[in-house]
Amino acid sequence: MSSSVHKSSLGNQIARKYILDLSASSPKLQRSAISPSNSVGSSLNSNSLSRRSRPDTNHHVRDYSDDESSSGERTNSYSQSTIRSTAASAKTLGLNGLKNIGNTCFMNSVIQCLSNTRWLLEYLKKDMYLRDINTTISGMKGALIKAFAEVIKELWSEDSSDRVVNTVSLKSQIQRFAPRFMGYAQQDAQEFLRYLLEGLHEDVNRVTEKPKPILTEIDDNLSDNEKAQESWRRYLRLDNSKIVDHFVGQLKSTLKCTYCGHSSVTFDPFWDLSLPIPQRTGLLRLSQCLDSFTREETLDGDEKPTCSKCKERRKCTKSFSIHKFPKVLVIHLKRFSPLERFRGKLSVTVDFPIEGLDMSNYASDSNASQCRYNLYAISNHSGTTYSGHYTAYCRHPYTGHWHEYNDSRVSSISSKSLVSGEAYVLFYEQETAKSHL
Ligand SMILES: [Zn+2]
Repeated sequence: MSSSVHKSSLGNQIARKYILDLSASSPKLQRSAISPSNSVGSSLNSNSLSRRSRPDTNHHVRDYSDDESSSGERTNSYSQSTIRSTAASAKTLGLNGLKNIGNTCFMNSVIQCLSNTRWLLEYLKKDMYLRDINTTISGMKGALIKAFAEVIKELWSEDSSDRVVNTVSLKSQIQRFAPRFMGYAQQDAQEFLRYLLEGLHEDVNRVTEKPKPILTEIDDNLSDNEKAQESWRRYLRLDNSKIVDHFVGQLKSTLKCTYCGHSSVTFDPFWDLSLPIPQRTGLLRLSQCLDSFTREETLDGDEKPTCSKCKERRKCTKSFSIHKFPKVLVIHLKRFSPLERFRGKLSVTVDFPIEGLDMSNYASDSNASQCRYNLYAISNHSGTTYSGHYTAYCRHPYTGHWHEYNDSRVSSISSKSLVSGEAYVLFYEQETAKSHL
């Protein structure tokens, strides 16, 4: 099936809604430059504000900069009422919050990051996923992805009222899938993301019959590329879905015997990269975390692996590189490393690129393509290991504006304030030929 077809048709539909917004080069400038319409803009604003002052959404902060409150300037011939209704229907979609139903900010943060993952949003919102539901080997038989899609559809509801979306039914399906998320204790957003993606994947797994296990090892005499392909083929025999298509990459690990020099290479699928934070204070660059992750380490003493050539335990070096780059690269900063946990959270600010993250230094193949990424979402953790709060910063998939999602509250945020010591899970999308234009 062609995802680009439905992507562009939804894109067009939404683009039409945003057409006024996108034509505005600088809403601020226009607002002050053309005085008669200021009154229209402000009346719309106060309208919207009064609509927003329901008790449960008291703190619902909105970003008006990419709303249509200034659209009147560009529709001079319209009557005021026409302007008003145009503006109301052109509200930027997707800027709805999620109710906190008891320590669920970790879940809300992850849901907002996924909700702004454009292909996933469109896959769910347009019901494309329904034809992929796995009713045979999926434990949830589609119940998890259906509950998730309902939440996403409500977040992207096309009616103009503001919503604070309730996640009670999604949470109960998540608990059925992963009982560890039972109850209302604070959880780790990255672990939650892994479980959630795994559950969504199972629900739309294209593998409908469990294949016979392959008991043989991959032939060590194959070239690295052949090994990688065989390893990937074996993975897809069991796990093959739209979710895998986008989120899963392939990591190459090389174990080298320091005695005989023999290298043993294995390829493993990865859903995210968990990067160590190699220092406790100061400012770090993301590349330093990536360097630390891919740097060769020595396995000695109790850790000595068995060399497949010497047939004996030998001191070896081990290193990682990326063989297959996923479309969506999830980077987890290990702020709560188990070894460090007793010393508390690592709050070091890691400076990461918003655009043009170049991963080519970490590619196993020096000719690797598709290793440039742009950031589109961040799950942030503030506070300490034991008491903290999660929020999300997400780039709107159609307007490109950044917003902060703090449970029920959604507000505008400048792309200059995205890097902080609170960034915990980063969502990058592969730069396509299109995004170079
Ligand atoms: Zn050896």
